Amino acid sequence: MALKKILITGAAGFLGSHLCDKFHKEGYYVVAMDNLITGDKKNIEHLIGLENFEFVAHDVTNFIELRGNLDYILHFASPASPIDYLKIPIQTLKVGALGTHNLLGLAKAKKARILIASTSEIYGDPLVHPQTEDYYGNVNTIGPRGVYDEAKRFQEAITMAYNRFHGLETRIVRIFNTYGPRMRLNDGRVIPAFMGQALRGEDLTVFGDGSQTRSFCYVDDQVEGIYRLLLSDYELPVNIGNPYEITIKAFAEEIIKLTGTTQKIIYKDLPVNDPLQRQPDISLAKKILNWSPKVQRDEGMKKTFDYFKSLSPEELYKSEHKSFDKHIKR
Ligand code: UDP
Repeated sequence: MALKKILITGAAGFLGSHLCDKFHKEGYYVVAMDNLITGDKKNIEHLIGLENFEFVAHDVTNFIELRGNLDYILHFASPASPIDYLKIPIQTLKVGALGTHNLLGLAKAKKARILIASTSEIYGDPLVHPQTEDYYGNVNTIGPRGVYDEAKRFQEAITMAYNRFHGLETRIVRIFNTYGPRMRLNDGRVIPAFMGQALRGEDLTVFGDGSQTRSFCYVDDQVEGIYRLLLSDYELPVNIGNPYEITIKAFAEEIIKLTGTTQKIIYKDLPVNDPLQRQPDISLAKKILNWSPKVQRDEGMKKTFDYFKSLSPEELYKSEHKSFDKHIKR
């Protein structure tokens, strides 16, 4: 029997590369697509050259041509950190809007099932806590995060339109803060930021007074949730994340302990529209996917720190992602 073929966009990114590993291991033929603006080929280099794996360098905001049959699509191409949205706002909007449109068109042409990566950001600075899937959100359309939040909200809308109007098989995962090996050290997110600072012997920068909360999910748990959702029959959005919530200040203290750094916490301004609290309600995922996270934060953080420790000094000290500079100048 021919292998099931899956197209994964954003395949050289943090989540995309782990999804490539999972589906390849499960016996799928994986087509990995990325334009390498924020992704890094290093994340999938162990797969390149293997049977049933191919890499295609392509920007999904342009028409996507793919020969042959296709069974599934995972659309994970998007900048995904607040620093990225500020640096490449137009690309962020385009990949969520035009990129999603192209992928839905491809799914329709190939009669493939498509799962799109949505986000807890569609809830904005939430007034309902923890966040359930039926909450509509509290998003500032014109704030710095608006380019991401609104692209993802549009993405959900167009996906449901293809589902209802064209009868396309669609799935929507709302991903909450996820961490693990292969996160980009310089993407500005709190975990690479704190771990990088600890490794370079710098103070840990807590934004605001650190009373804002987040709930961190280890990547293996996230990937398992996405895998189950794709293969399920459920067509409305599903939250996948770890409900174990912590303040950023308490989290910085945990990182100080874990890394053994002798540096201290310093406080900086809170970014505009930084959500005050975030915690997924995962009752739906538990019920329909029989899924809940398994990896404890101390275990996951240790594995993540081991990854950052293994990076070369050049990687540790390089302050910018090279392709950003190229991109911004254009
Ligand atoms: N944060 C921080 N110090 C940093 C980076 C981030 O205190 O060096 C805070 C940030 O303001 C936010 C939280 O950590 O409240 C999580 O930020 P991140 O960018 O990882 O993701 P978000 O959940 O905001 O999208």
